[in-house]
Amino acid sequence: MAAVNAGLLRPAALVGLGRINEIRGWQYQDGHALLGAGLTHARMGRPDFAALIPALAAAARAAGPPQIRNAGTLGGNIASAAPTGDALPVLAALEAELIIVGPGGQREIPVSHLLAGREMLSPGELIGFVRVPLLHAPQVFLKATGRTGPGRAVASVGLVLDPARRGVRIAVGAVAPMPLRPLEAEQWVASLIDWDGERMLAPEALEAFGEYVGAACVPDQGDPVPAGVLHLRRTVAVLARRALGRALTS
Ligand SMILES: Cc1cc2nc3c(=O)[nH]c(=O)nc-3n(C[C@H](O)[C@H](O)[C@H](O)COP(=O)(O)OP(=O)(O)OC[C@H]3O[C@@H](n4cnc5c(N)ncnc54)[C@H](O)[C@@H]3O)c2cc1C
Repeated sequence: MAAVNAGLLRPAALVGLGRINEIRGWQYQDGHALLGAGLTHARMGRPDFAALIPALAAAARAAGPPQIRNAGTLGGNIASAAPTGDALPVLAALEAELIIVGPGGQREIPVSHLLAGREMLSPGELIGFVRVPLLHAPQVFLKATGRTGPGRAVASVGLVLDPARRGVRIAVGAVAPMPLRPLEAEQWVASLIDWDGERMLAPEALEAFGEYVGAACVPDQGDPVPAGVLHLRRTVAVLARRALGRALTS
């Protein structure tokens, strides 16, 4: 609609998805939540949703000013695939699956495939639902905007603990065209956690995790490394450290 309003697009027709009730709610399915793509950010930010998938609720609460959160949807956030989409790192950390519906039936793809451009939507296809595992464990979304108040992310992180798989999964948003998963850093830190005990980590380990994630997601560019790159890497490191610290103490 922004492109239409700016006179850049003149579509012959528009299809509104807002009145398709089937995609505006969610339901439980085999240990997962099946989220309708038409869920608005405002709806996902409410307490009942936050009790289910806290990091996605936190991302929804951060996704622009109230007017945008009332109109913008989960499916729109994914389909527009803006690097600064706040839901995207959370969905990547959760390893969410998309259910694509179209005239030929339905198919399932990992959210990362769509964001990476490996799978495109065919004409007539929609993102109908997003399947998210219910992990029953702490999860955190954090975002740095570089300004006070609402704004697009300079960097963001979605981090989830998955005790059943003894895993820590983190995805970093806004620093690349799609969310980045620092897999080695995830495995390293998961091996330090006493999953059957207190799940505490020393401050030095949290600090090292942040540095690991920052270095993996914001690599050196040039010699000397530009100050902007160093600053962004530091921002990612701080977000990752804080996110893990909060998840382990909540
Ligand atoms: C001023 C402003 C500030 C914003 N700030 C933020 C922010 O800080 N963080 C953030 O995360 N986002 C932000 N956004 C983006 C916003 O949250 C929405 O995600 C985005 O605008 C998409 O809105 P929509 O869901 O209404 O989709 P639309 O605008 O209706 O559609 C966007 C695109 O997605 C396609 N699409 C929509 N739904 C589906 C579907 N179910 N299946 C297939 N394709 C679909 C449409 O065809 C279209 O191409 C901002 C937007 C604006 C205008």
